[in-house]
Amino acid sequence: MDRFSIVVGDITESDAEAIVNAATESLLGGSGVDGAIHHAAGPELLAECRTLHGCPTGQAKLTKGYRLKASYILHTPGPVWRGGQSGEAEKLASCYRSCLQLAADYGIRSVDFPCISTGVFGYPAVQAAAVSLRAIMDFLRDHDTPRRVRVVCHTKDSAKIWRQTYNFWFAETKADRL
Ligand code: ADP
Repeated sequence: MDRFSIVVGDITESDAEAIVNAATESLLGGSGVDGAIHHAAGPELLAECRTLHGCPTGQAKLTKGYRLKASYILHTPGPVWRGGQSGEAEKLASCYRSCLQLAADYGIRSVDFPCISTGVFGYPAVQAAAVSLRAIMDFLRDHDTPRRVRVVCHTKDSAKIWRQTYNFWFAETKADRL
C-alpha cells in the first residue's frame, strides 16, 4: 500500500489514528473543518482545548479524539493568506512538519490532513497544494513514522488540484518506497 495518498471525503469520519484540525490560534473552535471536528468530537474536545492556552500559527498541539474514530487530533493554525509575501508558504509548510513531528513523537502510525488554510484563510489551492505536498514528502523521506499519510479533500475539485500538483512535482516519487 502506498504510504501517501489523496482522497475525497469528510475528515470527521476518518479511520486514521490521528486527524489534523485546521485550527485557529485560540484553539477554541471556528468555522469550516474546525467547527465540523468540534461538532463530531463533542464538548469534551473544547474542554481539553481550553487547557492548552492556544497555539501559534505553524505549530501543533495534540488532544484526544473523543467521539471521533480517530484516537487523536493534531491542532494546527494555518496562515491567513495576505498575498504571499508575508511568510505564508513557510508557515504552511511548518504546519505539516509540526503535525508530522508530533505524530512521530507519539508513535502515531496514520495521519489524515485537511487542506489547511485553503478555506476561510484564503490560501490559493494550487499554491497550497504545492507547498503542503513538498512538506509532507520531505518529512516522509526522512522519517519512518507515521507509516500512512493522507490528504482528505472535501470536494472532487480540490482532489483534482492536489492530484495534478502531486503528479506534476512528484511523478518520480513512489511514497511506498520512501
Ligand atoms: P482554514 O481556516 O484553515 O482555511 P477551513 O476549515 O475554512 O480552514 O478550510 C480548510 C479546508 O478544509 C478547505 O479546503 C475546506 O473545503 C475543507 N473542509 C471543510 N470541512 C471539511 C471536512 N469535514 N472534511 C475535510 N475537509 C473539510
